[in-house]
Amino acid sequence: MLEALGYRGIRRFHMNEGHAALLALELLEQRARKSGNRSVTAEDIEAVRRKCIFTTHTPVLAGHDQFPVEMMSRTIGEAERRWDIDDVRVMGVLDRILGVPHKTSDLKELSHTDSPVNMTLLALNLSHYVNGVAKRHGEITRLMFAEYTIHSITNGVHGVTWTSDPFCRLYDQYIPGWRQDNLALRYALSIPADEIWNAHMEAKKVLIDYVNRETNAGMSSDVFTIGFARRATAYKRGDLFVSDLERLWKIVDRTGQIQLVCAGKAHPKDQEGKDVIARIWHAKQVLEGAIKISYLPNYDMAMGKLITSGVDLWLNTPVPPLEASGTSGMKAALNGVPSLSILDGWWIEGWIEGITGWSVGEDMRDKQGVCDSSKDAALLYEKLEQTIMPLFYRDRRAFVNVMLHCIALNGSFFNTHRMMQQYVMHAYFL
Ligand SMILES: *Cc1c(COP(=O)(O)O)cnc(C)c1O
Repeated sequence: MLEALGYRGIRRFHMNEGHAALLALELLEQRARKSGNRSVTAEDIEAVRRKCIFTTHTPVLAGHDQFPVEMMSRTIGEAERRWDIDDVRVMGVLDRILGVPHKTSDLKELSHTDSPVNMTLLALNLSHYVNGVAKRHGEITRLMFAEYTIHSITNGVHGVTWTSDPFCRLYDQYIPGWRQDNLALRYALSIPADEIWNAHMEAKKVLIDYVNRETNAGMSSDVFTIGFARRATAYKRGDLFVSDLERLWKIVDRTGQIQLVCAGKAHPKDQEGKDVIARIWHAKQVLEGAIKISYLPNYDMAMGKLITSGVDLWLNTPVPPLEASGTSGMKAALNGVPSLSILDGWWIEGWIEGITGWSVGEDMRDKQGVCDSSKDAALLYEKLEQTIMPLFYRDRRAFVNVMLHCIALNGSFFNTHRMMQQYVMHAYFL
């Protein structure tokens, strides 16, 4: 496809997920054809590996495609090739065909004929640089594929795309050059607190107006507003916040009002994901009046921007270690919106308690035991009631100080400028 578009002489190919791994097979074919070999040699494989970089994005098994050899064969077609489907099977089934002192023919016997081809293994075997998308995700990926050297480059979001208009204007005024180099957002600390707050209120009003118009929710921009928007799927636990309604009632009673803005679609075949949405919807009915909840339909990037920039707190409650990175909290940080999140994915790196936001519970890396949702919910409620809401309602200056540090410490770092520089430095020019 790239060649048909006129791109020639590309020196590095970056495969995003195993979906892209057929690219490496095509490079293998081209290379063998050029050197006139009748089949693929170990040198061909090594040459292709030099060209390829592979990024894996999730520890969730459904994210690692496997296809029966027969289906692969049928899909790729009958054209004459210098590798045969058995080579592909071997490359996509066995860990590490390179560095193993066997001939391909021996390896064929080692892999079962009926093992499906795993696209992640295919990509791993045909790349010279492999990475996960946050430090913790790198660690988890090393546990999943112990045979490989796996690095990590933490994701980032595109600064100008995800920053709301009021904050773009503020940064243009106080940090000229931030659009070309997001690192400059470090200097956000010198922006006057009341201007941060005014820009935030402007973005918040845009969101609240939208929510009221679309869902007739009767929300107020003076009320502490929590956001939760991402794909509705079981491990993200979108319903954790509404798992103990009695407790929520008490928090509101003792500490102040709460509003919740949610969005996110479930995959049509993901019944558990649909159940998450149904439980939030049910809570919305039960809480009617006490806590206003809106579940906005048609979640997309425009809506993602509206919500991440318009709420006072960004909530994330995945089952660790399944949130490989998470990116919506980075979008929030660019808009001075702090996160309250389980310590997983990028938040392990972005979290400084009480400075850039707050954790739900502690880092579970060295802890044994299964994920306990009712315990996590209790910790979430406690942090909200004891720490975050008192700050929001009774010490606005301290709350804005957290907002400033979100921008300066996290907006300046968890962006695509820094991410691309790291890919160039560590992967593309390696
Ligand atoms: C940012 C975004 C996501 C990803 O959010 P996560 O926090 O990484 O789950 C998904 N969908 C849309 C529309 C987004 O804007």
